[in-house]
Amino acid sequence: MDVKPRLPRGRQFFANPGPTNIPDSILQAVAHVTVDFNDPAFISVYDGCVAGLKRVLKTEQEVFLYTGSGHAAWEAALVNLFSPGDMLLVPETGYFSESWAKMAQDLGLRFRTIEADWRRGVDFGALRAALAADSGHEIKAICAVHNETATGMVLPLAELRAALDATGHPALLLADTISSLGSMDFRMDGWGVDIAVGGSQKGLMLPTGMSFTGVSAKAMEAHKTSTLPKSYFNWTNMLTRRHRSFVGTVPTSLFYGLRESIRLLEEEGLDEVFARHARLGEAVRRCVRHWSGNNGPTLFCLTPDRFSDSVTAVLMPEGHDADAVRRIALGTFNVSLGGGLGRLGGKVFRIGHLGDLNEPMILGTLASVEMALRLAGVPHAPGGVNAAIEYLAEAARA
Ligand SMILES: *Cc1c(COP(=O)(O)O)cnc(C)c1O
Repeated sequence: MDVKPRLPRGRQFFANPGPTNIPDSILQAVAHVTVDFNDPAFISVYDGCVAGLKRVLKTEQEVFLYTGSGHAAWEAALVNLFSPGDMLLVPETGYFSESWAKMAQDLGLRFRTIEADWRRGVDFGALRAALAADSGHEIKAICAVHNETATGMVLPLAELRAALDATGHPALLLADTISSLGSMDFRMDGWGVDIAVGGSQKGLMLPTGMSFTGVSAKAMEAHKTSTLPKSYFNWTNMLTRRHRSFVGTVPTSLFYGLRESIRLLEEEGLDEVFARHARLGEAVRRCVRHWSGNNGPTLFCLTPDRFSDSVTAVLMPEGHDADAVRRIALGTFNVSLGGGLGRLGGKVFRIGHLGDLNEPMILGTLASVEMALRLAGVPHAPGGVNAAIEYLAEAARA
C-alpha cells in the first residue's frame, strides 16, 4: 500500500466508541491539587456528584463507585449479588455480552445464553420462552448489555423488563449501560433495572479509571445472602464509609471532572444530549449506506429499530481488511477509529459518535474515512459525506 504517513498536526479526531474526547473544561477540572478526601469542601463536591449521577442514571436508589474501569463494576455487581453456581441468563449481543458471561464463569457462576445473530439481535420470543420454561426460578438474573459497543446495536431494556413481568419471573435485571449512559435514553428506575453498570470514559467524557453501579433495593436484598468472596468491592464494607463507596483512597480528581461532566450534560439537557447523539448517529448511517453502493462497506447492524446512536460498526466488503483502513485513517489523517472486537477483528471498523462531538467533527471524520477507503482500494460509492451533509443541514432547521 502506497500511502504516506504524516506527522500528526492539528487536533486528532478521536472517533473511538470509548474512551471518548474529554472536553477542555473537564480536562481543566481534573487538573486539581490533591485534597483530603474527608475534607468537608471535597465531601460537598462528592455528594453533589453522587446526586448528579443518580439524576443521569434516573434512579433514587443506591449507587456504589469503584476505582477501576467498567470491568471492575461488572465484577463488583457479580460478586456482591451471587453465590457459587448461581445461574445467569445472558441475551447474546456480541463481544461484550460474551465477555461479561466469561467473567461470571471465571467467578464460579453458570450462565445460559439466548443465542442471537450479532447483526440482527436477540429474539424476544426466545427470551420469554426461556423465562417461562424456568418455572423453578433457577435463573437468578439477566445480564443485559444495553448498547453493544462491538456491533452498534441496542438491546431494548424496557422489552426485557416486560418479558420478566409477563412471565412473573423474579430474576434481577442487570444492565450494562457503559456505552449508552449520557448518550442514549436510560432509565434505571423507570425500566425496573436492578443493577446499572456505568463507566467514566464514554458518555461521561471523563478519563478512564472510575466505574459505578446503580443498585436497586431488590438487589440490596439479594446482596445480603450472596456468598461469592469479596472484600474491596464489598458493598457492606463500603456502606460503613463516609463516602458509602471506596474502601481505600477516593480518586478525588475524577470527581472534580465528574462535577463538570454532569454540569455540561445538564446545561445542554439530557434530552438534547440524546437528540444530538441521534442526529450524529443518523448522519453516520446515511453516509455508510451511501458508501455501500458499488459493493462498498455496509452497516453491520441489520435491525434498524435497534441502531445505536453512540457507535456504528461498518462491515468491510469480503476480502478487504478493516485494519488497513484504520491504519491509513490514523497514520495519514490523524483520525482514530475503533477496530473489530473478538470474531469481528479485521472485518469491521467502528465509528464512535458519543460524547463531546458536533457536526464538523463527525463530517471531518467521515470525510477522512472516505479518503482512507479510497487510498486502501476499498470499493465504495464516493460522496457518502454529502449524504451526511444534507441530513445534518436539514436537521439544523428550527
Ligand atoms: C467499554 C465497555 C465495557 C468495558 O469497560 P472498560 O471500562 O473498558 O473496562 C463493557 N461493556 C460495554 C458495553 C462497553 O462499551
